Amino acid sequence: MAKNYEEFRIHGKQMVDYICDYVKNMDKKTVAPILVEPGFLAPQLEKEVPELPESYQQIMDDFENKIMPGIMHWNHPNFYAYFGAGNAYPSLLGDMLSSGIAAIGFSWASCPALTELEAIMLDWYAKALDLPEFFLSKSSNPDSVGGGAIQASASDAIFACMCSARARAIKKLKGDNHEIHDSVYLPQLVCYASSEAHSSVEKAAKMNLVILRIIEPDSHDSMRGDALERAIERDIARGLTPFFVVATLGTTSQVAFDNLVEIGQVCKKYPSLWFHVDGAYGGNAFLVPEMRRYKAGMEFVDSFEVNPNKLMMTAFDCTCMWVKNVLTFTEAFAVDPLYLQHQHDNNVVDLRHFGTPLSRRFRSLKLYFMFRMYGLKGLQSYIRRVIAMGKHFEKLVKTDDRFEIRNDVILGLACFRLLQPDAVNQEFLARMNASGKIHLTPAKVKGKYVIRFVANQENCNEEQINYAWKTIQQFADEILGEIVPTEKRPTRPRLKKLNRTHSQRFSFTRNVSQEIYERQPSIQKLTDGATPIVVIDTDSILLSLQKATIKNKEAQERDKKIQIKHNGCNGIKGV
Ligand SMILES: *Cc1c(COP(=O)(O)O)cnc(C)c1O
Repeated sequence: MAKNYEEFRIHGKQMVDYICDYVKNMDKKTVAPILVEPGFLAPQLEKEVPELPESYQQIMDDFENKIMPGIMHWNHPNFYAYFGAGNAYPSLLGDMLSSGIAAIGFSWASCPALTELEAIMLDWYAKALDLPEFFLSKSSNPDSVGGGAIQASASDAIFACMCSARARAIKKLKGDNHEIHDSVYLPQLVCYASSEAHSSVEKAAKMNLVILRIIEPDSHDSMRGDALERAIERDIARGLTPFFVVATLGTTSQVAFDNLVEIGQVCKKYPSLWFHVDGAYGGNAFLVPEMRRYKAGMEFVDSFEVNPNKLMMTAFDCTCMWVKNVLTFTEAFAVDPLYLQHQHDNNVVDLRHFGTPLSRRFRSLKLYFMFRMYGLKGLQSYIRRVIAMGKHFEKLVKTDDRFEIRNDVILGLACFRLLQPDAVNQEFLARMNASGKIHLTPAKVKGKYVIRFVANQENCNEEQINYAWKTIQQFADEILGEIVPTEKRPTRPRLKKLNRTHSQRFSFTRNVSQEIYERQPSIQKLTDGATPIVVIDTDSILLSLQKATIKNKEAQERDKKIQIKHNGCNGIKGV
């Protein structure tokens, strides 16, 4: 039975209504699906594809009753976790149109408008962010050999750029030795990122089979040129080849900014280096001139990427990536390099050469609607609001001396904690999340467990933040009341402690024993804001303390016996 589009006219409108009602009434829901346990869904749905067609209403009823209870409401006013994800409706219009048209844009010929609009939107965005002119396409800058493409995620963009850098480095090392296989050069390739960089850099290095050198940032968690240069010099002295550096503008844990000017100057000294800048969250902020001081040094960069879903309200996926030299970039992926050269002369490079996928959606339509329906002014006032909301939350936290802020609150993210041991902060976060009153995620900042508060929702306002802060304070009262009993404390029913599994789930931490931890062949070095933080199990520490105590006692007993023997039979016990 072919589906008829007259039906879509009806259901499509119903779906739009459903989405509008969802957004409008979201605040009446609990932010997080606290009642569902892993495996909740399968028992509720059929085991197989239904034999006969079902009605829209039946399908939506099941969605509402069975699936919706397991949904995390990322745009709920009490959601402050990760980096909030955009769902501004202009981007939804673009998504819908893209799916409806269903054109697949792997080459210019397969859908000319798809290839061209993508380039134009990336030019618009590059200009709005005040990026260097070498990132513009030929139609905006006739001298340019650079340009951009949309990738599915920042991780994809970072992987692709590292892959290209690797191909370029190997080509150089290889010279005319065509008979030698590229893989021979892998063991000598090294890339660099700060310990605050995103785990996608670690993943990219792992998939590219290259060494990742982690650089310690300064006291503001900014990667600096001298630390990078020392590491590079050490590697060169060992006979290795540094080939790729990633700097971050707006790190995931705490939105810190690396020093591009210093790093760029180092990269310039070593021409084998490809300099990538990860601006997944923070890059969007250059829409406003007052944030542009953080992008000083961008003129040294070979590639850059930013996620409009993180700080420009746009529905995922739509990572904007720019490269300084399209031909060099695409060489790693093109299976028909001669054709590629010819294409580039013609001003259009087929999008299939920009990474792994052949097929592509018409994702630039999201930006097309976003840019036109907000205008630069609308987008700028959004960024300014995020900055102001972050500052507002910081101010509130600073009024309460039971708490501290652990980062420089620059762009909507505050990392705060109770002035208590990590274990207390874990339990504190777990209880808040398990209550469903607010949703937050943790990070490790300067060795301490912190709670991240991200205020990047479109409609976030002071009232909403004041409410969130009150909620946080109430949980602090409770947990601190249990730890530090004071006479003044009103008698209140003792808070039900979370069981171990819930505590781990809602504090986003995983306790492992020292023994298991040490046995891991590799331990994730970089953070991603998504993987639970590994904490060495306090129970196992206690257990090993107990063991040590028993051993000490046994040893003492042995010493005593020896001493008794030694003292002979005069009956005086050893002291
Ligand atoms: C979120 C994030 C990424 C990864 O983004 P994806 O699009 O989910 O792959 C990379 N880098 C930084 C700094 C991030 O915050």
